[in-house]
Amino acid sequence: MSTKDFIEKDYYKVLGVPKTATQDEIKKSYRKLARQYHPDANRGDADSEEKFKEISEAYDVLSDEKRRKEYDDARSLFGGARPRSGAQGGFGVNLGDLFGNPPGGTTGTGERIGDLFGGLFGGRRQAPRRPRRGSDVETEVTLTFSEALDGKTVPLRLTSEAACPTCRGSGAKDGTVPRVCPRCEGTGQESRNAGGFAFSEPCRECHGRGLVVDDPCPTCHGSGRAQSTRTIQARIPAGVADGQRIRLKAKGAPGENGGPSGDLYVVVHVTGHKVFGRSGDNLTVTVPVTFPEATLGAEIKAPVLGGQPVTLRIPAGTPNGRTFRVRGKGATRRDGTKGDLLVTVEVHVPEHIDDTTREALEKIRASNNGDDLRSELLHLAREG
Ligand SMILES: [Zn+2]
Ligand SMILES: [Zn+2]
Repeated sequence: MSTKDFIEKDYYKVLGVPKTATQDEIKKSYRKLARQYHPDANRGDADSEEKFKEISEAYDVLSDEKRRKEYDDARSLFGGARPRSGAQGGFGVNLGDLFGNPPGGTTGTGERIGDLFGGLFGGRRQAPRRPRRGSDVETEVTLTFSEALDGKTVPLRLTSEAACPTCRGSGAKDGTVPRVCPRCEGTGQESRNAGGFAFSEPCRECHGRGLVVDDPCPTCHGSGRAQSTRTIQARIPAGVADGQRIRLKAKGAPGENGGPSGDLYVVVHVTGHKVFGRSGDNLTVTVPVTFPEATLGAEIKAPVLGGQPVTLRIPAGTPNGRTFRVRGKGATRRDGTKGDLLVTVEVHVPEHIDDTTREALEKIRASNNGDDLRSELLHLAREG
């Protein structure tokens, strides 16, 4: 853990305890959060995993009195800065004071100190040789219902920003080098006075780079950046649901100076199916049956996605809307096993009937005479 980590990360905030917390309070809060975000309890959830790492890191430092003191000292040294007069005044503006947060309070402190650090020591752009992790990239893909069930390898075209290949990121024409910006003296920031407060903003001369290029590289016109497009084959796992966000580790933007690649997040859209629906690992389908089939019992055929229909025995006296389970004909799970097919029967009431059917139904009605379906209901309603 570096001093920079110490300055940029607010371990107290991560653990949700005040700066004055006792070791007992720190331990208690850590245990609670660790249980909540433990990877075993949040399978495959990248955010929880990240959070769990943060919590562990914060606890490592704060639970050790010696390291906690080092941490507090580092933060009070950099975090306690106040506005200073002169050209550099902008760096020390305490946004906590400006926006009504309590001085020394935890809200937003991490970011403010990050800016301060960047300003004082030149920030990321001034340290081009430091390994940097590539950024995370998010993209979208649309799969058909069946593709989502089976999983699919899809080509994804990704565009990310990378160092210009001609000048290798310097922005300067071959044989020349950029020079330190005279306006901001390489900090990339300049201060502006507004209403008595000094703000820092990107330098107008170098646009925050801290360097100026006299002979720009013809490829990138001096920016040092280029768009790089690449196509990767991404495997979308079987059983993916509509709206799911899949993380593909290290498939994001490439790192710089030997840093690791970022991650790629793929948001999956799944189109609907004419016949089938999804309910978790199960497939659903509604199958019409006739009144005699439901009343007398029958063998009916139910459709199976991508396979032969199955024969389903429905017992005599099956009510409208009953659901039958056909095992193993649903969506494929992560472990390769399959969910079920849930068949819901819907009693079909014909709009038009021929004379023979009408006669038969009239007979049924006559035989039911005196057997009033609704008498019990009406009786119960009267009782209140
Ligand atoms: Zn400048
Ligand atoms: Zn270039």
